[in-house]
Order: sequence, then structure tokens, then C-alpha cells
Amino acid sequence: MNAQQGTGTESAHRVVVLGAGYAGMAAAVQLAARTKRRQGVQVTVVNAQERFTERLRLHMTATGQELAELSIPEVLEGTGARFVRGWVTAVDADAKTVRIDDHRVLHYDTLVYGLGTVADTSAVPGVEDHAYSLSTVQEAELLANRLGRLGGGTVAVVGSGLTGVESAAEIAEQYPELNVVLLGRQEPGATMNAKAAAYLRGALGRLGVQVRAGVEVAKVLPDAVELTGGESIAAEAVLWTSGTRVSPLAAAAGLAVDERGRVVTDATLRSVSHPEVYAIGDAAAIRQAYGVMHGTCQGGMPTGVHAATSIDRVLKGRQPKPFRFGYYHTPVSLGRGDAVVQFTHPDDSPRRICLTGRMAVRYKETVTASPWPTYGRMKKMPASGAFWPRGGRFTRTQETR
Ligand SMILES: Cc1cc2nc3c(=O)[nH]c(=O)nc-3n(C[C@H](O)[C@H](O)[C@H](O)COP(=O)(O)OP(=O)(O)OC[C@H]3O[C@@H](n4cnc5c(N)ncnc54)[C@H](O)[C@@H]3O)c2cc1C
Repeated sequence: MNAQQGTGTESAHRVVVLGAGYAGMAAAVQLAARTKRRQGVQVTVVNAQERFTERLRLHMTATGQELAELSIPEVLEGTGARFVRGWVTAVDADAKTVRIDDHRVLHYDTLVYGLGTVADTSAVPGVEDHAYSLSTVQEAELLANRLGRLGGGTVAVVGSGLTGVESAAEIAEQYPELNVVLLGRQEPGATMNAKAAAYLRGALGRLGVQVRAGVEVAKVLPDAVELTGGESIAAEAVLWTSGTRVSPLAAAAGLAVDERGRVVTDATLRSVSHPEVYAIGDAAAIRQAYGVMHGTCQGGMPTGVHAATSIDRVLKGRQPKPFRFGYYHTPVSLGRGDAVVQFTHPDDSPRRICLTGRMAVRYKETVTASPWPTYGRMKKMPASGAFWPRGGRFTRTQETR
């Protein structure tokens, strides 16, 4: 059946938001709140689950910690936006349709593409079959289940980026009986200033995490990780956090994508090949004057809000504005009792200031908990979602002057 049959919205301008992650939720709530008193705009949000995935806390899920139940339909209640639970299997950019679970079809006039990323488990042989990842809540729960039953032995965390660091610290703290080895190309905290990086490495040491930097994992086996050069590290469980990949749907639909499959946008966040499609969050390749943005929640939510305000402007016959964003921090948890926050320049290079210890724990928790209340506030006051650092001279271009 056509999912839009019988909704009475056939003549409305149909905006379909794909993905209700940090960016998609920001777009959906912002747009629904802006258009709710106007006839003729129907916002539909499609997501794999009804429960909001707090990706920022998946390392907590992976260590058996219970998270709050955050219901997407509940937050959308009263906004006029419709929620469709399902798995998007195809986008037809010519017919302007989205296929869900292979048999339902949604028609759109404007599409917001926010399907995020998952761990790149195809990078190295054996990862798909033998390693755990933090791609979804279900994946994280599988690891929690395994860790809870181990009682001893080694857990190898592959990837010394921030997800790897947070995960290794969390596992070491929650399961002190396990040896945790963090494997990666770079020293943990490589993007931080010397003080913050030293603090981070000290904290990993205190938690007993063994760091092996400058290594390349060649293969994951059922009971070990093999490095290039042949060394083998025995491991009862392997967590893969090295690299991310996007859904193949955008490329398959013929949208212009970059070498990583992310939708390439213009300055206003519209697809360069299909201007009726906006791309947001980790699934988009969004260029700023300092380079293409990398996937974060701090940047993803503003992209969602901006896409929504752009759609609203276009619907009112106005021109959308260029998107500008400057990074401001990198907060990293080091277990539940410790953290480090590196403050950054808008291009994400580290400033001299950082927070450590209890202050950093409070800061990190405030940041991690903030998206959900932000959506609630935006429902009543859409403009409250529009505050983020624009990046000053770091993001100024001919177009933005
Ligand atoms: C452990 C961990 C810690 C992190 N910590 C931080 C941090 O401290 N700060 C920070 O800024 N960033 C952090 N990140 C990165 C951050 O989580 C991402 O940048 C952010 O989630 C991107 O938001 P998004 O909306 O683009 O995608 P997502 O939040 O991944 O949302 C995508 C949504 O689309 C849905 N979806 C995907 N494909 C389909 C499909 N085919 N059909 C239906 N639904 C689909 C997914 O289920 C999901 O709900 C962390 C990531 C991890 C894994």
C-alpha cells in the first residue's frame, strides 16, 4: 500500500526527513514547529526505531549501563509531524519517492537526508564476522552481553580515535577484571594540545588500559587480532571503532556523493545534483572555508536546524542562506568519574585551554544530555535551536559576506 494514501495530505508540500538521529531530529522538530500553524506543509520522519539512539552514550550501553528511554514519536507529538518507523531501502530521486521496508512508498517534494554513519566493518577481513561495533544499540548490547559473561581475559579496542578512547576507558572501569588493549595508528588524543593529551593518556594508564599506538590491524580472528607484520594479540572480544561508512542509498539514488559516499551539498545544504534534497549530519559532505566538516553531534544538530530554516524560507519564496559552523570543543569521557574537554578553534584545531577531572565530567554530561531538552524547547520556540558558533573569520567566504 502507498503509505500516504488516505492521509488527506495529497496536496500539501511533502517534506520527508530520513533518519531521526541528532541531525534528523533537529531538522524535523525545527521544521514542524515553524510550519505547524500553516496549512499545506506535511513533515514526515522515517527512522529505523521509535527509540532515539543516543550515539554519544553507546559505549555506556556496550558496558551494560541502562540509558533513558527517549521516544521519538513522543517528542514529535503536537508538532504535526508524522513518524514512520521503518528501514529505508531505496530513494528514487527522479520519481521523488522513498521505499521503506521494500514495500511501502513515500512521496516527497523535499527530502532531508540524515541517515548518519555506521562503523566501517568492511575495512579489514574478519571484522564483520568476529568484531563488535557501536553502530547501533543492538550491536552495543551484544558486546555488553559478551563482556558481562567473560570474567577475565583481554578485550581489544581497535581505533585510537575518540570513540576508541571513550570505549576502552569505559570497559576498563566497568570490568576491572579484564585486560583492555587499545590499538591504533595514532597516539590517543593526537588532535589535542599537549596538556589535554597527557591528561587523557594518564587517565587511560590509571584505568589500566594498555595502549599500542603506531600499529595497523590486518585481520580479526575469532580469538585474536593480527597486526601487519604478523604479530598476533589474543583477545576474547574485539571492539571495532576505526572509521565510519555511510549508507549506499544516496549513491545508488544518483545523488552526487564524495569519495566516502556522503552527499555533497552546496553552501545552503542542498544536494549539488538534486536541489530538492538537503543533506545533514554525518551523511553529508559539507564544505566550510576550513575544509569539509567531519561527523560530530555538535555540528550535526546545526545542519538539521539550518536545513529546516532553509526549507521554510524557500516555501515562503525566499532564498536560503549559506550554512556556517565553527567547532568549539572536544569533550571526551574517561569512564564515569573522569573526562577531558579540549576547547578548539572553529577549524577544530586545539586551543590552549582544556578542562580535566570533575569539572570536565560535569561539562561532558551536560553536553551529552542537552540534545533531548533542546528538541523539546525547539517545539515551543523554534528560534532557540538557532544558537551555534558561526566560526567568524574561519568560515567567512565570498558567498557568506
Ligand atoms: C560512542 C560514540 C561517542 C560519540 N561521542 C561524540 C561526542 O562526544 N561528541 C560529538 O559531537 N559526537 C560524538 N559522536 C559522533 C556522533 O554520535 C555523530 O556525529 C552523530 O550521531 C551524527 O548524527 P546524525 O544525525 O548524522 O546520525 P545518527 O545520530 O547516526 O542518526 C542516524 C539515524 O538514521 C537511522 N538510519 C540509518 N539508516 C537508516 C535506514 N536505512 N532506514 C531508517 N533509518 C536509518 C539510524 O537508525 C539513526 O537513528 C560519537 C559517536 C559514537 C559512536
